[in-house]
Amino acid sequence: MEKLYYTDRYKKEFFAKVEKIQKREDVYLVELDKTAFFPGGGGQFSDRGMIDGKEVIDMIEEDGRIYHVMKEKLTKKEVKGVIDWDRREDGMHQHFGQHVLSGCFYTKYHKNTCGFHLGEEISTVDIEGDLTEEQIIYIEKMANDIIKQNIHVEIFVPSKDELKETWTRRKLPDTAEEIRIVKIGDLDTNACCGCHPEYTGELKLLKIKRTEKSRNATRVEFLAGTRAIEYVLKRDNVMSKICKHLSCNEENIEKCILNIENNLDDIIHQRNILEEELLNYKIDKLLKNSNKIGNIEIIKHIFKDKDAKYLNKIVKKLTEKKNIIIMLFNTTTDKVNVVFAYNKGMEGPDLNKILQKNINILDGKGGGNKYLTQGAGKNNNRLDEFIEKSYKSILNYFE
Ligand SMILES: [Zn+2]
Repeated sequence: MEKLYYTDRYKKEFFAKVEKIQKREDVYLVELDKTAFFPGGGGQFSDRGMIDGKEVIDMIEEDGRIYHVMKEKLTKKEVKGVIDWDRREDGMHQHFGQHVLSGCFYTKYHKNTCGFHLGEEISTVDIEGDLTEEQIIYIEKMANDIIKQNIHVEIFVPSKDELKETWTRRKLPDTAEEIRIVKIGDLDTNACCGCHPEYTGELKLLKIKRTEKSRNATRVEFLAGTRAIEYVLKRDNVMSKICKHLSCNEENIEKCILNIENNLDDIIHQRNILEEELLNYKIDKLLKNSNKIGNIEIIKHIFKDKDAKYLNKIVKKLTEKKNIIIMLFNTTTDKVNVVFAYNKGMEGPDLNKILQKNINILDGKGGGNKYLTQGAGKNNNRLDEFIEKSYKSILNYFE
């Protein structure tokens, strides 16, 4: 079986003879006398495409044989294969991007590669040990410089004796099969069964997206070729929009954002002060309108559409004082919230018992303890009745 993807890596179409077709479950495994369909390897995904207008849905390499996996059966003996070139080119670029990155990390910092993953959207290469931000920036620039130099990528299959004399960045695989060596000028030499471009310039661009710690290595996310170009263009558009929005240019965007952050901090600080003042004002008003029974003040008040945070602040402030019992309500269109509370240091009725006794009036439920209890109900219409009954129960305690 002639491997056209090795002899001519840019072959998009080819003619071949069908040698064997076998059925496996619900698919056909097709063997050809030659193929340009790359079966995958070296972390690079396998090709897709068409044979005689019928789809190749997967590739399998098994015991030295290459199978084109098809759903429809081929009927002719002589067939034409067409590779899904966009997919192949993308796979080649991401895969080769890893070679360039690995070569750069090794040449510059003597850090080897211990993992590689080619993803549908992003690819990763794992580099031994820790890497600083400066090192990452340096390597990105170095990789793009290698691309710019348009170095010829040599691919050869040495004899076993020649192999012994060949330096490779990583240990050679222990196999009886032929080993293909990929050499990128003085940058890198490594064994690989993938499909590679002829010149580094084909990658056009390599972009490191981000890095993260991964066990004893650093995982470097990257994009190469068209993926990298599209990513950078997209980011550039976003950047332009941000600059326009903030009325600043790229050079001082960081400063501009920092200013906004500082201003925001000031505003939040000012708002907190005003909120506190407003809260104190509201509390004074509530105290002025309270009902007095002996030395106890009972505050009854219905709020409208307040959030829980606001009510909690009022409850907290009022229960700091002794001899105050609060009965606060918050109504919205379809709900009512209830809080009964007083300071733990004073003697008073069991507020939770009072709430539990009357909460059914509001078609609701709630719970808490003697000093602080909360509830919620669905029936706003009978709120007055609920307040009256609960208020009476509190008065009963003091009579
Ligand atoms: Zn490779």
